[in-house]
Amino acid sequence: MTDMSLKVEPLPIVEPLIVRLRDAADELGVHDAVLIEVDGQRREYDFQGFSLALYADPDTRLDNDVILIAPGQTSARRLIRANSAHNTLLITEQCDQLCLMCSQPPKKGHIDLFAELETATLLAPANAYIGLSGGEPLLHKRKLFDMLLSLSIIRADLRFHILSNGQHFTDEDIETLQTIGTERILWGIPLYARDADRHDTIVAKQGAFERLIESFAILFEAGALIELRTVVMQQNEAELPAIADFVGTSLPFVERWAIMQLENIGYGRMNWDRSFKDTSTDFENVARAINIATARNVPIQLYNFPLCSVPARYRGLAPASIADWKKKHESFCSGCSQRQRCGGFFEWYDHKKGFRGLTPL
Ligand code: SF4
Repeated sequence: MTDMSLKVEPLPIVEPLIVRLRDAADELGVHDAVLIEVDGQRREYDFQGFSLALYADPDTRLDNDVILIAPGQTSARRLIRANSAHNTLLITEQCDQLCLMCSQPPKKGHIDLFAELETATLLAPANAYIGLSGGEPLLHKRKLFDMLLSLSIIRADLRFHILSNGQHFTDEDIETLQTIGTERILWGIPLYARDADRHDTIVAKQGAFERLIESFAILFEAGALIELRTVVMQQNEAELPAIADFVGTSLPFVERWAIMQLENIGYGRMNWDRSFKDTSTDFENVARAINIATARNVPIQLYNFPLCSVPARYRGLAPASIADWKKKHESFCSGCSQRQRCGGFFEWYDHKKGFRGLTPL
């Protein structure tokens, strides 16, 4: 697992600081720090004439990474890793749903870092694709949209993948979404059932399904790009073909429909025994859902499925979707010919309670 924080020597700062780490000193901006000395794990940078020291494994590449250092903290968050395609910024830990598979259970408080996140994003490499997640980012819709509007002018090369529960879009947002540029944002929005009762039970919010359908209409009218997401669980697995039918008939304009395996962390871990569906031993309903969606021309993907848990004819739909910093392989993967292509497992996956039907390919 990649370390997403770096030990730093304390700095006398009173506001959060955004710093881009540079190995060489050319065209420096006000947020750039230049490497001047490496001593084992300790790296010393010159930041506006001051010394900034941090610690990292000598093999870790940090050139052009963007970090956040908070007052009084001895570790810095790696917000943007320049050589990674999996940069995701946490907008808020607040949420208005309590989904039973939530990997990051919500917290009441909100630490507003929009200014810092915008600065960090401005320093991202050219053409970066950046994830924005929560909690529910649209609980802070005005600030989020203002940030995206500003970035759309200054960094028109950037694209975003934003995870949202789809509960907060209104007709007034259509113009804003179009001004930001609908082609710049792929909205990842979950749908867990085709009927209101089941969906609302899974997300623990009455009326959520109805509100979601309203939001889809708004997003379609705006021309927004949608990645529909359905986590497979014991609670909805039998319904997958019906969901496929619903997507194909009522939501055929989505960019893709992602069927996802459960993540063993947060509420997902708490509810694992009653929610995890072992699709490596019973793929039937996933297969039927794929066949229906395919027949209706809905592009489909399988996220978080180890490659050998998927029957051969569907393996092409299972990209290596787990972010590089939180992925692992099990010991039995060492002799597998597909290890490079396979997305493997979440770092926190527990094979004792996991897939029973895996075989190296
Ligand atoms: S055995 Fe191969 S296909 Fe299966 S999880 Fe390991 S690397 Fe992936």
